[in-house]
Amino acid sequence: MKNKANPFVNVLKKLKETTDQLDLGEQFYSKMSKPNVVLEQPLTIKLDNGKEKTYQAYRVQYNNDRGPYKGGIRFHPEANLDEVKTLAFLMVLKCAVVGIPMGGGKGGIQVNPKNLSEGELERLSRAWVRAFYKDIGPQKDIPAPDVYTNPKIMSWMVDEYSKLVGQDSPASFTGKPIANGGSAGRETATAQGGYYVLSELAKKLNMKPEQTRVAVQGFGNVGYHTARILHEQGYKIVALSDSRGGIVINGDGVNPEHVMRVKKAKGVLVGAYCHGTVCDLIDHDKISNEELLELDVDILVPAALENQITDANADNIKAKVILEMANGPITPEADAILFKKNIQVLPDILANAGGVVVSYFEWLQNLDENQWTEKEVFDKLQKTMQQSFSDVWAMARKKKVDLRSAAYLLGVDRIAKAK
Ligand code: GLU
Repeated sequence: MKNKANPFVNVLKKLKETTDQLDLGEQFYSKMSKPNVVLEQPLTIKLDNGKEKTYQAYRVQYNNDRGPYKGGIRFHPEANLDEVKTLAFLMVLKCAVVGIPMGGGKGGIQVNPKNLSEGELERLSRAWVRAFYKDIGPQKDIPAPDVYTNPKIMSWMVDEYSKLVGQDSPASFTGKPIANGGSAGRETATAQGGYYVLSELAKKLNMKPEQTRVAVQGFGNVGYHTARILHEQGYKIVALSDSRGGIVINGDGVNPEHVMRVKKAKGVLVGAYCHGTVCDLIDHDKISNEELLELDVDILVPAALENQITDANADNIKAKVILEMANGPITPEADAILFKKNIQVLPDILANAGGVVVSYFEWLQNLDENQWTEKEVFDKLQKTMQQSFSDVWAMARKKKVDLRSAAYLLGVDRIAKAK
């Protein structure tokens, strides 16, 4: 089902539609349709067997009209320039939609990190910083984790950056371990933010958690914590998947913490990654990632990669609500089909913005040499996400459009005004 449509072409279509509606003119569209800066460099590291290997690395600095470039670094075998550009563009919009004073950027390395030892992973992470350190920094461009990168990788990166610039610089990266200047709550912030946004929609639709069945695609940091939080709040988690396949759980569903325990216990740890799968949970029907998307559930949570729901499968989606925790999982053609089917899509640039909001809080704490409690962080996050939901909802009502179009209108208008 996964289509190979260029995701950058897809987001530009949406941008064009939005700038036309806002009457922003050709010049603004043209400026917004390309990144300010594209940095690309091959990184060569020594492998444990003594041989050398080269990986392509990227940093795209898309737009900084509202503040320093901000966005994660993805380690993935299919990372490529068009993907990084798309994700950088989405970061610009995301920061604008939730009203934090940051621009947007993204980085990546084309690598399967699951094949690396811990030492190789560290050498590659440090090599990324050596390649790009002159172009990033606390007031310029602040990277963070994304798919297959984590707090430990951020701590290596901050350490490398601090050595290169000759001073401790905790505000140069966010998503660090708490012991290295990270923020309380950052690790689960994306999921927590998604939960706050979903709760606002659930109120509007009168959805009761205990009567609501949820399927989650992806069991990384975001998918796992979203499933865990929703389960704790009483929602029924009836299907889960990861890159190796999925499971359906009948009846009352499953506790994702139990699934994680089994995945860790049965999986082999290679380097920094657990090679287990949710499919290790026996006694449950196995399904593919594609089948999970089409299950008869109330809420579908794509929390893996882009281009999952396309014109090829949108017609088969049965969920009433889609909470987009991944970036770009639905193509514009699929959006149109879902809108006709009256399926509410909570768009990525709102739904998964909790991560960058708490990254912004972490950056503020680092600059102030201060530390907030988890309660302070989540209270502020909740306020931000509730306000953003209410702004997007109001825009959707006013313009009679879907929530993604409303979020684009809100975000692009804020960017244009910052100019
Ligand atoms: N990678 C995350 C995202 O896509 C977080 C970015 C950040 O914290 O800067 O939103």
